[in-house]
Amino acid sequence: MGCLVIAAIVIVLATIAIQILIALLPVLLVIGGMCLVFFIVGGASGGVKEFKKEIAYTQNTVREHMVQFRDDVQRDYHEEMLSMTLQKSGVNFNKLRPEMDSAISVVVSVYHTAMNDDKYKPLITSANDYEGHSERSAHYVGAALDFRIKDMGSLETRKQIAQMVRDNLGNRYTVLHEDIGQENEHLHVQLRNGTYNRNAVWK
Ligand SMILES: [Zn+2]
Repeated sequence: MGCLVIAAIVIVLATIAIQILIALLPVLLVIGGMCLVFFIVGGASGGVKEFKKEIAYTQNTVREHMVQFRDDVQRDYHEEMLSMTLQKSGVNFNKLRPEMDSAISVVVSVYHTAMNDDKYKPLITSANDYEGHSERSAHYVGAALDFRIKDMGSLETRKQIAQMVRDNLGNRYTVLHEDIGQENEHLHVQLRNGTYNRNAVWK
């Protein structure tokens, strides 16, 4: 008897529970549906954000490695500056940055003053060439030039010339008087590290 009563109670309770669930079903469906919509929309907008980030990254990478072409004025200036110098055979101006054209102009005018000769042509002994520069050398990214200085008078005069070039170029550039007293004594003129994009390839 007791068992039957318990069974009856269980059946009644179960029935009530099922009825409650059926009554709540539309509400549960609506809540579930809303969760699904939020999930999909949220996921999609996250995806779009990722995609935009990806595009921005790609654009930056392309920009950093972009070949940059001199405009007509810069090209004329480049040719003019090269014409005011002599170049040792094998010197390669590949990638030379426009800022280095400006540096040539300064070196030329200092040499003119030092030699008291407005026709004097400094000899460029190295640009983007010669494997002897250090691996990360500014020479290999078109940001350094070497000028012969060993035939520019006494050591005192040569030091003065180096200092004049340094003073006239200002702090955007680094000027080193290298291999003093040796066959290869030269002025190394380069854009100061960190002031330019090493990946840009100038033409
Ligand atoms: Zn050098």
